This record gives sequence, structure tokens and C-alpha cells, in this order.
Amino acid sequence: MADNRNVMERHGCIVDGKMYDMLVVYTPSGQFLDCKVTSGGGHCLKGHGRPLVACDQHSAQQIEAALAAHFPGAETPEDRDERDA
Ligand SMILES: [Zn+2]
Repeated sequence: MADNRNVMERHGCIVDGKMYDMLVVYTPSGQFLDCKVTSGGGHCLKGHGRPLVACDQHSAQQIEAALAAHFPGAETPEDRDERDA
């Protein structure tokens, strides 16, 4: 029986790039499930279909603006649009 996989990863804050250690949980099929910041001062941003982290001190507006800048036009968690040229 396959279990969820816990993987230690390092990700930068979406706003200012500060690095955080995170425990990321993937399903047996490799789909992102959950994440948790193991070093202090930051927290995970859930609901984006990928591990994202932000410092605790950033406001919701800062985080939203950073998300919009990183993923322009990606409002939905699963933005896998494969377009034919
Ligand atoms: Zn930050």
C-alpha cells in the first residue's frame, strides 16, 4: 500500500524570497497535498496546488499581489492550460 510522501523542501517567500524549510506532503501519485513550514517566521499558502510560503509579517494584500505577479492570470489552483500554438 502506498502512503503519502513527506518531503523536506526549501522554498522562498512569495513576496521577498526569504528561504524557508518546509515539510511538503505528496500523495502516492505525486500530487501536492499539504505543506508546513518547519523553520519559524513563515507559513504555507494553501489552495494553490503547489507548495508556497510567505513570511508571517506580510499582509494579505502583499501576498495576493505577489501571487498575481508570479502566476499572472492563474486564478485557479489547477492552471494546466496546454495551448496549441
Ligand atoms: Zn517574505
